[in-house]
Formats: sequence, structure tokens, C-alpha cells
Amino acid sequence: MSVSAVDTAARDGRTFWQRGWAPGTGGNLSVRDPDVDARQLITASGTDLGRVTSDDFVAADLEGATSKSEAEPSAEAPVHGAIYRAVPDAGAVYHVHHMEAVLCSQADCGEGATVFENVEMIKALGFWDADDRVLVPIVDNRHNLEELARLVADATKKPPAGERPPAVMVEGHGFYAWGDDPDAARRHTEALAWLYEWSWERRR
Ligand SMILES: [Zn+2]
Repeated sequence: MSVSAVDTAARDGRTFWQRGWAPGTGGNLSVRDPDVDARQLITASGTDLGRVTSDDFVAADLEGATSKSEAEPSAEAPVHGAIYRAVPDAGAVYHVHHMEAVLCSQADCGEGATVFENVEMIKALGFWDADDRVLVPIVDNRHNLEELARLVADATKKPPAGERPPAVMVEGHGFYAWGDDPDAARRHTEALAWLYEWSWERRR
């Protein structure tokens, strides 16, 4: 399972890069280690998602520490780890620097969330009723990744349960989206990208 999960994640990363969601080695991907719940397989520091393969994933604990023989994991490994801890069902976490998501986060940070409603695409995030509202929480960006990890973990619990999507946005930076497995994480990432583009387009 671990091989196919990282293969799937790598393929998704290359697709995200082609769409312009992770330029300049921005963006990172992880899957929960299928053998050890409290470990993750995450892209190494400096991985270019345009060329990512399963060989670029390193095993790290949920704080982002690796065993001595491993390459450095992404600096954002503690944030991925905090999501795995806060969301026990999460099997994969994807992080992208999506342009319209960043623009929306800077416009909406005063409200603390971007709201999506009256749009069919929220179904891809698991919301099925026409009058459902989806609140993607926005947290401050931090260069201290332990602090950022704490903010993101808190935000996973903040929107009311009925409005809570599998995602957190970091202001002026990018979003983290997760799912039970890489396919679900990709579905959520793509749906969010569409929703942020839609939202930004209708404000112009
Ligand atoms: Zn980032």
C-alpha cells in the first residue's frame, strides 16, 4: 500500500505543478505511513513537484523528525503531522500554493474564513445539501513551523462540524487539504482550487 500511495501522491504532485499550483519548489505532499500510524511519508525538503517521484518521499514522525539515514523532510512536516494528529481519518495531506486561494485569503482574513455556498462543487468536499455552507478557516502565516502547526491543528476544529471542510488555508501562503487516501486528498485539492478560482472570479 505504501508504494502505491506515494506513487499516487507523486503523480498528483506533478499534475499540480503543471497547473501552476506549486511553482519554485513550493508545495509538499504526504501520506500516513500504513505501518505506523504516528509516522508520515513526506516529500523531502526542496522537492520540485514538477519532477517528484516516489523516491522523493522520506519517513518522518509527526513532529517532522527522521531517522539519521533519511534526507531532510519538507520544513512543513510538522504541519502535516499536526493534521494527522488532529484528524485521525486523514491518510494523505496535500499542500499547494494556489494563486486565487492566496488572493481570497488576503481578502477574507478579517472574517477568519472563506465561505463557499450556493455552488455545486462543494459536493466534492462531501457537502450534499443545496443550502450547505463550507467555511475554510484562515490562519496567520508563521515562519516558525511548530507555531504554524499549532494554528492549523486548532483550525481543523474551529468551523462548526456541519460547515467543516477537509482543509485549512494559511493567509498569503497556500492551503492544506486532506483525505482518507491520496485519491480523496486530490479530489479535495482540485475542488478547492476550483472554488477559490470561482470565488475570486466573481469578485472582480
Ligand atoms: Zn507552503
